[in-house]
Amino acid sequence: MTDAHAAHGEQPGPAALVLAGRGVPMLDRARIYVCGITPYDVTHLGHAATFVWVDALSRVLRLLGVDPEVCRNVTDVDDVLDAAASRASAPYDAFAAIQQYHFEHDLAALNVRPPRHEPRAHRYIEHVIRLASGLLAAGAAYQRDGSVYFRGQAAAGHAGLDRAEALRLSAEYGGRPDDPAKDDPLDAAVWQAAEAGHPAWDSPWGAGRPGWHAECAAMALSAFGVGVDVHAGGNDLRFPHHAYHSAMAEAFTGVRPYARAWLHAGTVTVGGVKMAKSAGNLVLVGDLLARHTAAAVRLMILDRPWAGDWDYSGASVEKAAARLADLYQAAGRTGGGAQPGAAEIRRLLATDLDVPAALEAAIETGGAAARLLIATLGLD
Ligand SMILES: [Zn+2]
Repeated sequence: MTDAHAAHGEQPGPAALVLAGRGVPMLDRARIYVCGITPYDVTHLGHAATFVWVDALSRVLRLLGVDPEVCRNVTDVDDVLDAAASRASAPYDAFAAIQQYHFEHDLAALNVRPPRHEPRAHRYIEHVIRLASGLLAAGAAYQRDGSVYFRGQAAAGHAGLDRAEALRLSAEYGGRPDDPAKDDPLDAAVWQAAEAGHPAWDSPWGAGRPGWHAECAAMALSAFGVGVDVHAGGNDLRFPHHAYHSAMAEAFTGVRPYARAWLHAGTVTVGGVKMAKSAGNLVLVGDLLARHTAAAVRLMILDRPWAGDWDYSGASVEKAAARLADLYQAAGRTGGGAQPGAAEIRRLLATDLDVPAALEAAIETGGAAARLLIATLGLD
């Protein structure tokens, strides 16, 4: 390192991203898969928070000289979507396309950059059939009554859950642990035999549709090959979805681990209750953006540790707007050793996306450091 580099605080070697306390060295490209939406309803703050964090991760990687290649899927083959489309008397795919349009509009309004890949599950039926065939050949799955089931016991074990908790979560997320065709209630459908009220496609096992975890595994493997650098999603997707997705991918490819790092964004609650339509406490992105700037909403989401659950209230966004005003004011200042300040911002963001510390430092240092933070986090 030359003296000039040292003075600017530049680091030699690979881009030093740290996630969840562990270094994830990158050369020049990062494969990031984020579980996208099931397009059956409006976009709420709970969904948006995950996608804003992934957007922040990609922007920080770009700052580190790494090209972030984001794949955000659309789960448009899904039992919950089928039920919603049926209530609206619409074909599932037309219904999903309209919801997806609204979702993308909301995310664009939040200054979230579009992903490089946006696979839609209904275009990946053939991939899921190949995945199922590979899992059968590997002995990781079995065929019964027109369905193909993935043996799930080990996935539950790896997730560190006891059996009762794994079964409870599996039931909560549509895993049908009481399906009598399964060898074990923790097994999961890679391919589900056709049922009334759901779309169906031909397969070697008869008509049916792909299972949720298998869809995501097939889309991720298709976009990126055997694995990803970072797999992201809401904290509630940890089990069963991510546990089964990675277990299927690893059983199919033989390459472990499927993901080098995970980014599980914290759950957003209102008055301590998880945001959900059934709880009647949805905070819609469109409503927030009618009253506040995208920058204030983004900073409200990002000015906290990404993994922590948090409670939304009207005061949260007011507080973020006030911090943002301080940051803008700091950015207008000149001088004061701007360049080392910018290096410190870069270091803090690379260290577990520590926005609170970077914001504190940017407001204190001002000038170029504050302008770098604004540009990197998309707060302009
Ligand atoms: Zn997924």
